[in-house]
Amino acid sequence: MKENLPSGITLIPNGAFHQDNYGATYLIEGDELALVDPGTSYSVQRLLDWFKENSLSPSRLSSILLTHIHLDHAGATGHLVDELSDLDVYVHARGAPHLVDPSELLASVKDATGSRYSEYGTLKPVPEGRIIPLDGRTTLNLGLRELIALPTPGHAPHHLVYQDLETGSVFTGDSAGLYLGGELIPTTTPPSFDLKKNLTSLEKIKKLSPSALLYSHFGPGVEPIKLVDEYGRILQDWVELIANFTRNYDEKEVVDKVLSKKRDWLGNSFTEEELVMNVKGVQRYLSWKGN
Ligand SMILES: [Zn+2]
Repeated sequence: MKENLPSGITLIPNGAFHQDNYGATYLIEGDELALVDPGTSYSVQRLLDWFKENSLSPSRLSSILLTHIHLDHAGATGHLVDELSDLDVYVHARGAPHLVDPSELLASVKDATGSRYSEYGTLKPVPEGRIIPLDGRTTLNLGLRELIALPTPGHAPHHLVYQDLETGSVFTGDSAGLYLGGELIPTTTPPSFDLKKNLTSLEKIKKLSPSALLYSHFGPGVEPIKLVDEYGRILQDWVELIANFTRNYDEKEVVDKVLSKKRDWLGNSFTEEELVMNVKGVQRYLSWKGN
């Protein structure tokens, strides 16, 4: 894994859902340190331990960059801000109010995840003064290192990707899918997945001419354009498959059909519950669209 990482960027496995190779937090090292997507609230201790093991003082961290506020990406934020006083938190402007008052977000996670809710941990409120809301393409200066934040709605309306201008690599969050064990898997979580917007965002990512894609799930992908194109096809096929099943079968049958067709996706840290949740996200999208 390490060999494909751009210089100055380190992957810290954050242990989300008790899986070693599912949640990736990235550390960007310049004259200041920044974390991209610190993971769930359960990841906090793991990250602090990692700093200790690597003889880095966490007090050198100056910022957290969030691709979006889903708890497996942003859950640790409030705890880290509490622990380390001077952190700035970069997040899409639409996500910012949910960090200040997470009650609506937590209710939505509960609704989407059902019995798996406790695995998502929680989110401690983040003081408003620590948040830097981003709207539109923005250049960020982290000490001497510059990054671009770019809105990429689709997986969620408040999704951003970040491009590190020094290496050209792009932190994709969930915009470009899951990349588990070398396989691309769609991530179409409720409540706000939107196929059309996600496909437009993939084109925006391609226009950045990324040198590498740094997936939150999990690790670097070194053929960016090929991977982005492939994900666009996978996403369209996935939505079409569910649309067809949904027209012809009841809710339980749809899930059974999808499971029998896509069982090969399971394993590699991708669970049946997650697959079912992704089916629901697509159905929700289709119901808005009146399909
Ligand atoms: Zn997500």
